[in-house]
Amino acid sequence: MQLYNSAAVPIGAHTLPPLLYPYHALEPVIDEETLRIHHDKLHKGIVEALNKTELKLAEVRKQGNYEYIEYYEKQLAFLGSGHILHSIYWMNMTYPGAGGTPSEYLIRFINLSFGSLTAFKDQFLAATKNVEASGFGILGYNPAFKRLEILQCGNFQNLTQWGIIPILVCDVWEHSFFIKYHENLSGYVDAWWNLINWQDVKERLVYAVEANLPLQT
Ligand code: FE
Repeated sequence: MQLYNSAAVPIGAHTLPPLLYPYHALEPVIDEETLRIHHDKLHKGIVEALNKTELKLAEVRKQGNYEYIEYYEKQLAFLGSGHILHSIYWMNMTYPGAGGTPSEYLIRFINLSFGSLTAFKDQFLAATKNVEASGFGILGYNPAFKRLEILQCGNFQNLTQWGIIPILVCDVWEHSFFIKYHENLSGYVDAWWNLINWQDVKERLVYAVEANLPLQT
């Protein structure tokens, strides 16, 4: 499976990635209605707004008018990060064939970074369930440290470490779970754990490690 296209995305030409499974495929963990709204409306809206922002910035550069630059830069960080995280979120989940355990390759990095698989799972679930307001629980590879890190992402773009490449992300904005779980975020996150496509997570880690070899010190 090819995770990343090597060609540059032209300015203002991001596209909504298709789901690789039917809308009902993640039931009973994630209901069809939630998945439809989340992917077809919310993620699509993020992609469209990101494209508009990029095209607007191209215009700003052309005109040399930077009066509202702070607003556009904030939008670029928010929407660009939102598009990236949702694209990973869809591919991190699959059914059937989901769940199970991470492969040896992933386990080596998990042990190096957290001590054990149990410690990793406990920290990841606790961090994700305790994101303040809207955000994501994120497992990412940081090439500067050559280790995995667990981060509590605020909105789409806050509370990061520079250089982190997300490989496993759990959306905990209310739109991800509210229809089925109401205020029970913890129930959603525990159930979501069983949807994880560990093969996809491993491929992302391999890509992150190999793609960043030149950056290693
Ligand atoms: Fe979302």
